[in-house]
Amino acid sequence: MEKLNILNELADEIKTCPKCRLAETRTHAVPGEGSASARIMFVGEGPGENEDKTGRPFIGQAGKFLNGLLEKAGISRDDVFITNIVKCRPPANRVPLADEVEACSDYLMAQIAVIEPKFVIPLGGSSLKTLLGPDLKITQARCKVFRKSGILYIPLYHPAAALHRSALVETLQADILVLKEMLSRDIREDEITDLSAVVTKPKAKAASEPQDEKKDEKKKDDDKPADGTLSLF
Ligand code: SF4
Repeated sequence: MEKLNILNELADEIKTCPKCRLAETRTHAVPGEGSASARIMFVGEGPGENEDKTGRPFIGQAGKFLNGLLEKAGISRDDVFITNIVKCRPPANRVPLADEVEACSDYLMAQIAVIEPKFVIPLGGSSLKTLLGPDLKITQARCKVFRKSGILYIPLYHPAAALHRSALVETLQADILVLKEMLSRDIREDEITDLSAVVTKPKAKAASEPQDEKKDEKKKDDDKPADGTLSLF
């Protein structure tokens, strides 16, 4: 079956998915969108208010900013797929709970397996920690290449972070150019930090408690936009 057909089937499944409590409060699930043969896959944490209303990812200010970054860097939208770790909006943009992330993780892994992007890009600290490990910090991990389970990851700041901290605009612009350069060539082994031995799959514990490491991020992220993902730094 063609990649696009498989992605469409996955999207149909996501749109009616009942696997976690976020199904009860969503307006629309947000499977993600972009090229079925994208070389870059951006992964935020979860849909925001506008995304929940429309079923489309990154359509608010953060998404527009990301589009501008890609355009300026000359990266085609055909080279990009955008999605989130959880496909349904957590109420009031709260941090997804560990069991919600666990329930939804198969969809993201299936999308990665179908698209086979050259790089998966965790956007922001929360996405980074969920995908690659709770001890990583976006300030140190940004723009570096990690490998886990055969997948190459290059974390970047969340675009919404630059909407809050103008100093990050130049950083993100520079990082996108680095990403573009890395797209155009083979990545050397000595550029890669291998995390294959690190277990990051969230434990399905304490369904009523956010993942501990995310609580602190949530505290400093009270002014996050309603249209973006949740933990920016
Ligand atoms: S967040 Fe994921 S697992 Fe939960 S209902 Fe939505 S699609 Fe299903």
